[in-house]
Amino acid sequence: LDPESFLEESKLIVDFIPDYYRNVEKYPVQSQVCSGYLVHHCPDSAPYSPEPLESILKEVSDSIIPGLTHWQSPNFFGYFQANASTAGFLGEMLCTGLNVVGFNWIASPAATELESIVMDWVGKMLMLPTSFLLSGSGGGVLHGSSCEAILCSLAAARDKVLKKIGHHKITKLVVYGSDQTHSTLQKASKLVGIPTSNFRSLPTSFSNDFALCPDDVRTAMEEDIGAGLVPLFLCATVGTTSSGAVDPLEALGHNVTWLHIDAAYAGSACICPEFRHHLNGVELADSISMNPHKWLLTNMDYCCLWIKEPKLFVDSLSTTPEYLRNNASESKKVIDYKDWQIALSRRFRAIKVWVVIRRHGLDNLMFHIRSDVNLAKRFEAYVAKDPRFEVVVPRRFALVCFRLRPKEEGEGIELNSRLLMVVNGSGRSFITHAVVGGIYIIRCAIGSTLTETRHVDGLWKLIQDNAQLVLQELGF
Ligand code: PLP
Repeated sequence: LDPESFLEESKLIVDFIPDYYRNVEKYPVQSQVCSGYLVHHCPDSAPYSPEPLESILKEVSDSIIPGLTHWQSPNFFGYFQANASTAGFLGEMLCTGLNVVGFNWIASPAATELESIVMDWVGKMLMLPTSFLLSGSGGGVLHGSSCEAILCSLAAARDKVLKKIGHHKITKLVVYGSDQTHSTLQKASKLVGIPTSNFRSLPTSFSNDFALCPDDVRTAMEEDIGAGLVPLFLCATVGTTSSGAVDPLEALGHNVTWLHIDAAYAGSACICPEFRHHLNGVELADSISMNPHKWLLTNMDYCCLWIKEPKLFVDSLSTTPEYLRNNASESKKVIDYKDWQIALSRRFRAIKVWVVIRRHGLDNLMFHIRSDVNLAKRFEAYVAKDPRFEVVVPRRFALVCFRLRPKEEGEGIELNSRLLMVVNGSGRSFITHAVVGGIYIIRCAIGSTLTETRHVDGLWKLIQDNAQLVLQELGF
């Protein structure tokens, strides 16, 4: 990286990005391209000679941007948002610009030490017990995604138990979640060698708002023990992907070998005192993960994982080839985060987090969560007021799950999937769906950083107008 050319060329990108954000509202939120579209815009093979940045940026505008679904559009209400902020971007620039690879302490002491510090900061923002903090008896680590965090937790739990009962008993281990638990648990379970027949996806229902039922968990575990199996890992969720349900941690956490809490989405809200009760019972857990890249103004990627016994991660994940040996690691006085995750190489994500927290401050981060929740309340009130619609499950955070009421239950999918298609096809807003309790719901997840009241009002108007058309078209 030559500083002079960097200075010159980065200005072009620094101009390009604000332009993108200025114009993002004008683009169709969901990309309208057909599959394979890009191949017609690109040569068959890589260029032999360097090309000017200006022509590359022109192609970004002409060919790439039309193929983007605009997650940063204020009219993006799908999945769970990917928050961005100036501080998040600047922190990411520092991370990429310094480009250190902090796999162990000696490879970049500041990368490790800043990570330990900011993980304790965020842990304290969530009022986690000190048993999860490095300043207590546990510790936090930054992963790229919840999938990796859950996979590593499961590997540590597996090895802890197999050490006691014998490695040949791996086929006896059982993993539990609910039918609302993120599919990553099933993937992680497969990857750590749990037989697919030992994965329990316990049913949830409308009667308890799609939360795990502690009695069902107990019964399933007792049945498994009766059949000679070994309950290993329970994953409880605070803010499920489909409907924002919250599993009752306090009731679930007793007599469980390993409790993991997946708070990928709603964990961010728990920095606000009024939402913190959703984490009551966290002291019973062995590990907890959450994704500030969803809702805490931090650009991708950033997943926090706290663990009570980091030694179990090291026992499970540590490998030390000769070329990584060094006195600091041998002294056992430093953390080598490579032993708390899958990959050896690791980005300096901590510097991004550090910039985000310092530039926004806890006060503004809480303000951001609360303003999204208020917008969600506004949308929820619109839905509740229109008799053609219903809010299907109670709103807890900034996700509103609703649908057009069908005359006959069997018509719900056709009606609502058509409405979703028409709204997204308009390019003016983007929403996604889920199925809970056999019911097709439309999800409106509020949280894109640029979303304001007028965008939420615009979405509702778009939905109302199209609902009328869809009802007529389908003859309901
Ligand atoms: N858990 C929950 C509750 C989620 O909502 C998601 C994604 O939306 C995930 C896990 C997966 O997160 P990641 O993409 O970071 O692996």
